[in-house]
Amino acid sequence: MRSGPLISLCVSSSLTPSARCETVARMRFVLSATLLLELRQRRTAQRAQKRAADEVEDVHDAFLLDSGMGTMLYLASDGRVLASGSTWGDEPLREAIDDEAIAALVVGAEETGIVALLQLVPGPPREGSACPRCCGERWEADRMGICLLCRGRGWVVPSMLDAARSIGLWPPEVAPPRARRRG
Ligand SMILES: [Zn+2]
Repeated sequence: MRSGPLISLCVSSSLTPSARCETVARMRFVLSATLLLELRQRRTAQRAQKRAADEVEDVHDAFLLDSGMGTMLYLASDGRVLASGSTWGDEPLREAIDDEAIAALVVGAEETGIVALLQLVPGPPREGSACPRCCGERWEADRMGICLLCRGRGWVVPSMLDAARSIGLWPPEVAPPRARRRG
């Protein structure tokens, strides 16, 4: 059993029972040689232009994909997605949860123009269907953020729809029909 990658999670959440740490499994992606080359070239070019060296990128051979919303998300060359709250200070580096990992790929593809990142997003399971909110586009209609329902997957499973219903995210509110038929 490999326990190494989980250590940081356990350390960063020392108040949770250790048994819970054992059950945490994070998404890992397999980066093709071509994708790695593209990411490395972009990282080098960015640093040559303006960006200063980034400790997470250096230590983990990682690539900053999403620097928005206070949490910086990196794709590491070994396939992990790392989350750092360094813009707000004190959150230790950890592995991203699934929603964050997918968001990193989708936002990263948009920001870098490296579309191969999108190919790493897992496809739908058998019970999945196209996301009814973004119609598989992965983004909100205004393109200001990724889809709130599928979180960038482009697909949903029934449990995701149920969760969205429970918080009023889905279905969208529609104007009632002019003449309502009452039976
Ligand atoms: Zn969606």
